[in-house]
Order: sequence, then C-alpha cells, then structure tokens
Amino acid sequence: MRKVISRKEAIAKGMNRYFTGKPCKNGHVSERSVIDCACVPCRNNIRRKTHLKNIEKDKERDANYYQENKERLNAINKQWRKDNPIANKKHARRTYLNNPARVDLHTKARRAHTKIKLSNEEKKRMYKMINFVRLINKAAGKVILHRDHILPLKPVHHLTGKPLSIKGIDHPDNCQILSAKENLEKGNKFRPKDQLLFLKRMRFIKQLPKKNLYEKLRIHQKNV
Ligand SMILES: [Zn+2]
Repeated sequence: MRKVISRKEAIAKGMNRYFTGKPCKNGHVSERSVIDCACVPCRNNIRRKTHLKNIEKDKERDANYYQENKERLNAINKQWRKDNPIANKKHARRTYLNNPARVDLHTKARRAHTKIKLSNEEKKRMYKMINFVRLINKAAGKVILHRDHILPLKPVHHLTGKPLSIKGIDHPDNCQILSAKENLEKGNKFRPKDQLLFLKRMRFIKQLPKKNLYEKLRIHQKNV
C-alpha cells in the first residue's frame, strides 16, 4: 500500500501529488493532484474522452507543434537515442512488430525492378493487403495466402517460359491475394487470366514505367 501523505505535507516537500488512502467518488484509491485535488485516474479518463472527441483537432495541433519546433525536437530525439541505445533498439523492434507491412513494403520496394513512388492512399491499400495476408497466415498457423504480383516483377511467357520484355511494378493495383498453392504453381508466369485481370486494372495505374507497356499487353490480350 502506498504511504499516506497529506496535501499540506506534499506541498511542503515540493511534491505535486498527495495520497489520502480514501477512495474517490468513482472508487479509485489513488493519488490526487496538489494543484486542484483531482483524482489522477479520474482526470486521465476525462482527458482520454476529450481527446477521442477532438482527435482530429489534437492531431492538427500536435502536427503544428512539431512543425514549429522541428529542429529542437529532432535534436532531443537524436540525443535520447544516443543516450539510450538499448531502449531505442527495443522501441524500434516494437514499432516493427506493430506494423510489419510497412517495413516489408519498403524492403520489397527497394528490391523491385521498377522504382515507383506510391501515394499515401496507394500505400494504405498496400499495407492493408499485406497485413490481411499476414493476419490470415498467423491465424492459420501456416502460410496459406500469398500477395502476388499480377504481372510478375520478372515475368516469363506462360507457355514457353521465355522472359518477357515487360516488368511488373510493386503497386497495389498490380497485386492480388492468391492461395500459396496457386501462387507457387504460377511462379513467374504471366498467365492468361492474369493478363485479363491486369488489363482491367491497368487503367487505374497512373504511373506506368513505360508508355508502350499497354501496347505490348494488347498483343497478349489477342493471344488469350
Ligand atoms: Zn477517481
């Protein structure tokens, strides 16, 4: 049990919290603030509710504060990382585990043959897909789904196995979710049904690496 300390004593000692040992009107046996005698958990609850109500406003305020104090805050963070290497490593690990899709996407994007810049909306769709696949696989306890590139990054002809002169891009419109079995069978082949699906999706892809890609694909469509 926490030591009882009256408000007067706490003030005399220069503390900002005191403790009566008695429950508040909501039943918390907790510290109170010296300034306004408020029960700390009660106040935190009120603050949380207010924050949830004004979440957009708060976000904007925080973003503005960051922009105005960018250099100072970045310097503080940099120094903190230097002073606390172990805690920093832990934090980085936690961030990674919280959003593996982001890390995965960046790694994939680096490896992709065609470097394209995704808009925030496109990134969001990509994260959603990656996270969905991970979630299902995690729940199943084994890999049953793959995120597949409809036009593979290094495609080959579905019959002859010869490399094609076109290359897929790491873009959500060029991605589909396939069963692991089907995707392993597909390999690097640009199958007829993928070609049809790709043509359907193509009109949504704005950042095409090559303008003549569409023309080349038309030839494939004729062959389907
Ligand atoms: Zn309370």
